[in-house]
Amino acid sequence: MNPAGNLSYDVFVNDPPPPDGFLPNGEPKRFSPMASTLICGREDAVLTDPGLTEDQARALGDWVAGKGRNLRDIFITHGHGDHWFAAGLLAERFGARVVASAGTIAQMHVGVATRPMLWDKLYTGIPQSQVTAVTVPGNCFTLEGHDLVIVEVGHTDSDDTSVLHIPDLALVVAGDAIYNGVHMYLGQSAVDGFGPWRDAIGNVEALEPRHIVAGHQNRRRDDDGARTIAETLHYLDDAEELLRTENTATGFFNAKIARYPDHLGRMILWVSARALYGVREHPGENPAQIILSSWL
Ligand SMILES: [Zn+2]
Repeated sequence: MNPAGNLSYDVFVNDPPPPDGFLPNGEPKRFSPMASTLICGREDAVLTDPGLTEDQARALGDWVAGKGRNLRDIFITHGHGDHWFAAGLLAERFGARVVASAGTIAQMHVGVATRPMLWDKLYTGIPQSQVTAVTVPGNCFTLEGHDLVIVEVGHTDSDDTSVLHIPDLALVVAGDAIYNGVHMYLGQSAVDGFGPWRDAIGNVEALEPRHIVAGHQNRRRDDDGARTIAETLHYLDDAEELLRTENTATGFFNAKIARYPDHLGRMILWVSARALYGVREHPGENPAQIILSSWL
């Protein structure tokens, strides 16, 4: 018997907000595309990571509405605002509950506190973003009898991140633990290195997912679990090598582009490079402040 029964999933990849400013190589400063997953039962559905802006919420909401399901829950993988500042709009439109781990909820409050110094300086059209998310007992909730399991994987591109495991679909909705054809945000690894992130990837791998939906992805890529895990690890290997061989943020930026010419989200590559080299070049200064100013 097919354990999935009537369960299925679909992915909507939202365009990033319009670019503002330019990168060192002269091209527009473009953020990464953002992916939301809709897990569908016969009548009900669960949505993940609904994005940042009002425009994204409208596009995603219209897509969800077209699927003809009752949206019960909206799951948030981690505290970064690009994954959830639009959650309130979707929750209101569909009458859905917002769900996250306790660690993610704490990080969502950090995201709200950081918003005026970061997101509001980068983009307009970000809606009100109160934290309304609730935890669920045992980090598990259900969709028409199928388990949806919140797995806390620790530090990836930020602290206290989680993924959603749907065993009956052999699916992991990975947030920013796994990337797919998009530059990874390495800034928050500037102090402790990539070891914690590698451990988190190991936690994802242990779930043996056939499919992985990365929170940032090129919509032309498939969702093969083994490939996306291997490529995410390889990107970290390359970053470690380039941190040894490149002396400047610009050198790191150019070398990564040479190795990953088709990766999207070069703004994130530049932010990462500035944060990694900024922290390294300014020992004794507050790393959190350096990482924040790398965005601006
Ligand atoms: Zn993200």
